[in-house]
Amino acid sequence: MKGINIDPEECKGCRLCVESCPKGCIQISSNINKIGYQYAEFRGGNCTACGICYYVCPELGTITVYEEDKEAVNNE
Ligand code: SF4
Ligand code: SF4
Repeated sequence: MKGINIDPEECKGCRLCVESCPKGCIQISSNINKIGYQYAEFRGGNCTACGICYYVCPELGTITVYEEDKEAVNNE
């Protein structure tokens, strides 16, 4: 299944991924992480594993994109 993982403790809540996802798969949580930001979270839907969210995120390592069971892209 295609999808992404967002590390809530690395996210700065800039919303770039939310605004850039063509499928509307990402939202900002009402919860706050340890450094005081409302973080982005994957809300499901029709993720195509396009990687746009990954490429716009300024925080390296925060978003990992999955295509089927294997990682499509990551920062590591
Ligand atoms: S990989 Fe593409 S479709 Fe999936 S959440 Fe990121 S921007 Fe949206
Ligand atoms: S682009 Fe990165 S830092 Fe910005 S809200 Fe999304 S996951 Fe968080």
